[in-house]
Amino acid sequence: MVPEIKPARVRFAPSPTGRFHIGSARTALYDYLYARKTGGQFILRLEDTDQKRFDPQSESEFYESLRWLGLHWDEGPDIGGPHAPYRQSERVELYQEYADELVANGRAYHCFCTPERLSQVRQEQQKRKEPPRYDGLCRSLSEREVNARRDSGESTVIRFKTPREGVTTCIDLLRGPITIDNATVDDYILVKSSGMPVYHLAAMVDDYLMEITHVLRGSEWLPTFPLHVMIYQALEWQQPQWVHLSIFLNPSGKGKLSKRRTTNQRTGAKAIYALELRQMGYLPEAVVNWISLMGWSYDDHTEFFQMKDLIDKFTLEKLNPSPAAVNYSKLDHFNGLHIRALSTEDLTERLYPFFVNADVQCDPGLLAEITPLIQERIRSLEEAVEMAAFFFNPTVDPDPQELVGKNLTPAESATATRQALAVLRNLVSFEPEHTEAELRKLADTLGLSAGQLFGILRVAITGQRVSPPLIESMSIIGTETVLSRLEQAVEKLEGIADPE
Ligand code: GLU
Repeated sequence: MVPEIKPARVRFAPSPTGRFHIGSARTALYDYLYARKTGGQFILRLEDTDQKRFDPQSESEFYESLRWLGLHWDEGPDIGGPHAPYRQSERVELYQEYADELVANGRAYHCFCTPERLSQVRQEQQKRKEPPRYDGLCRSLSEREVNARRDSGESTVIRFKTPREGVTTCIDLLRGPITIDNATVDDYILVKSSGMPVYHLAAMVDDYLMEITHVLRGSEWLPTFPLHVMIYQALEWQQPQWVHLSIFLNPSGKGKLSKRRTTNQRTGAKAIYALELRQMGYLPEAVVNWISLMGWSYDDHTEFFQMKDLIDKFTLEKLNPSPAAVNYSKLDHFNGLHIRALSTEDLTERLYPFFVNADVQCDPGLLAEITPLIQERIRSLEEAVEMAAFFFNPTVDPDPQELVGKNLTPAESATATRQALAVLRNLVSFEPEHTEAELRKLADTLGLSAGQLFGILRVAITGQRVSPPLIESMSIIGTETVLSRLEQAVEKLEGIADPE
């Protein structure tokens, strides 16, 4: 019998401090998939308590990226929900309440140490080769002293009073139990002197209040995972299931993914942000497919997934904690597969803006005719412009040397082109089968291979060595333009031919 899965409440909780990169996209995707798979909710929460690093553009980029990827949230700062507000800066009083509760229960304390004192403590610890940590000076201040110093206006932070004895066992769904000595955990700050909570408090309070059942987050949180479990225990709350996702490695497989150095080898772009991938002509379907497999697999061979398949097949058990290297050739591969899976109408619609952005005078009706010719060939939407702009440009201007056929002289190439012109002028229309048969016949007569002749004609008509199928392209371009491009090619070839 299939075990019953309870509807999960899963949150994606980015800090609006930068751009939306593929690491964020993967966390959000897994959150979304699990929520949808279990019939639960996908919640978006903005963790904006770090005012120093706040970037006002971040929030709109998150929304745009998530929507582009098709990861639609059920509750969030913009749409509200039963646990609103979903922006931490609007929930500060709530965190203060729980910080006060921890202090009242003796599980946290006010600390008055100045930055100068703390830096001195750190220096001494360094000298003694001890790990840096708070030395606990304010841990045992009496309530009276604390109140008196606060009343006199001394500034204070609230620190967690980490148990000095015993062990804490934290359970990560992928890694199993992790047990640590409590004495190794620092007395972390929970509330800063400004009154703003830090992640360690705010995220725990919100996950609890928002009834989050599964916390999927980056493995950079593993070192402070014991603190988070201790906070839950101190407040006597039931913990969610914890899942720390694998880290991303650079494409070389060496080192953690670097935002500065990561380049797509084919395009040379620093393709780390979702919106940048969109601009480069990757389909959201392909990006979703690609990142879905960076830390999860279904079996050892299935790799083509649409969102609905992922929702159907996704399980937390199949997540893999091992680091995953970012592989851009794989992304190109998936992009190709998803481009071919689109209907031609859909692909035409998605291609159109790329032509417009490249300043090509693109006619949508004509583009619809071209799409089937390039659908099998392009690896990205952007590449379509390179491949097919010649259909829309009034003229092409190939380098004369490019027009010279393989193993032929310019004069021989000019003759072949002239002959092709004569053949084509006699055709009533460029019906592909007929045109091809006639040109093959001509190649035979001239003692050329079809490849030699078509090579010259391709450059002459399209202006490029690589193009969609030539004969079909000719029939779309139309007789008049084809003939005039060939005439121009003859002139160019004659211009570089040796005088007889
Ligand atoms: N705001 C945290 C971050 O952006 C979220 C971590 C979490 O999901 O708990 O890293």
